[in-house]
Amino acid sequence: MIPVKSYAAQTEGATLAPYNFERRSPRPHDVHIEITYCGVCHTDIHLINNDWGISIYPMVPGHEIVGRVVAVGEHVKKFKPGDFAGVGCLVDSCRDCDYCNEGLEQHCANGAVYTYSAYEKDGTTIAQGGYSTGIVVDERFVLKMPENLEPSKAAPLLCAGITTYSPMRQWNVGKGHKVAIIGLGGLGHMAVKFAVSFGAEVTVLSTHAGKKADAEKLGAHDFILTTDEEQAKSVASKFDFILDTLSASHDYNFYLAMLRAGGKLVCVGLPSESINVPSFNIVFTRKCIAGSLIGGLPETQEMLDYCGEHNITADVEVIPIQQISEAYKRMLASDIKYRFVIDMKSLQ
Ligand code: NAP
Ligand code: ZN
Ligand code: ZN
Repeated sequence: MIPVKSYAAQTEGATLAPYNFERRSPRPHDVHIEITYCGVCHTDIHLINNDWGISIYPMVPGHEIVGRVVAVGEHVKKFKPGDFAGVGCLVDSCRDCDYCNEGLEQHCANGAVYTYSAYEKDGTTIAQGGYSTGIVVDERFVLKMPENLEPSKAAPLLCAGITTYSPMRQWNVGKGHKVAIIGLGGLGHMAVKFAVSFGAEVTVLSTHAGKKADAEKLGAHDFILTTDEEQAKSVASKFDFILDTLSASHDYNFYLAMLRAGGKLVCVGLPSESINVPSFNIVFTRKCIAGSLIGGLPETQEMLDYCGEHNITADVEVIPIQQISEAYKRMLASDIKYRFVIDMKSLQ
């Protein structure tokens, strides 16, 4: 077994505190990674607080993991010690259902194993995430990180990156499309970078006027302060595609009104409340509301390679793990620029 240091929540809503535990020794197909950085996703906050009623404790959060490979099992082909490697939101799946065979492991018919707050395939071991010094994962679920990307800035690609890249690829966002991104946080700022890179005309829809200059720096062409009624009205029936990254409860009808007929509102944010939309708000204008969950392993690798080629990374604030509670407070206040990333040296 491999002893690791980490920060964990022992119970619902608990403040994270130091926690020592052991990872399994690498099996023949496993990769052992020494973690250098781990991004902080709003999902970490939802799961620590049991917002969705599915949390498992003790919980070591973190699913934007990068580091160096330190050891590999005897059958591992893709990795060798010293490689720059990443782990995102998934660490296992059945590998044999239609979805797994299509590379859509996140929809595994027999239950994908999430990186934390989940049971491993043995049904008893609790999977523990990246706020820790090391992790052991089957090579199918380990990503090759482009060596030209700065590790702390590349870590958020493993969740915020793939979660925004995947739906925009699915719906062919590109040149000639008017695209809006709701919420300029961790996911939102990556969505802006991808949409701009795909050639779309991009508008940020935000509740914070102070984020306008940053939206422009990220490449957005327009910024709408959604709390200003006149500004919101000015984009009525305008967009072909809207990506909704909001973590908190909101009125979907308000944003549907900004879609042109036939437009798509794709939700990736996960507030716990229901989506409440009258049929008339979608039927008469052939609008579509859809969801999207991270991305499978092949598409995650495609996204990382794309980021390596186009030099796309997150804008980050690197913090020692001892400042995690402060980071959560700032995220809940939407005070974020635009992803916190934990420097795992602070855990040594
Ligand atoms: P984040 O960095 O905290 O950003 C969320 C943004 O939403 C905020 O910066 C803010 O943007 C806006 N916002 C927050 N509270 C709001 C409120 N009360 N009213 C209106 N706007 C509000 O969060 P994140 O890490 O990007 O995650 C966003 C959501 O996506 C979370 O629910 C998370 O669990 C979910 N998620 C889903 C997937 C998936 O696969 N579908 C993957 C990862 C995360 P402005 O200041 O610009 O308004
Ligand atoms: Zn995430
Ligand atoms: Zn499967």
